Amino acid sequence: MTKPAPCPICDAAPQAAYRPFCSKRCADVDLGRWLKGAYAVPAVEAEPPEDVSPAQPAEQDFSN
Ligand SMILES: [Zn+2]
Repeated sequence: MTKPAPCPICDAAPQAAYRPFCSKRCADVDLGRWLKGAYAVPAVEAEPPEDVSPAQPAEQDFSN
């Protein structure tokens, strides 16, 4: 048997229900990244980022 690959988000042991992720949270994180990538326009590199936008969306966790 081969050892299952760890969660690509946090390297924790994956859960069968959420493989290859360890939790729905990590699955959502990956999905969010994928969607951002899908929305991103490749030609955006023509304009190098000068500043980090203060409005950069942070990961929100309302469960706290
Ligand atoms: Zn994880």
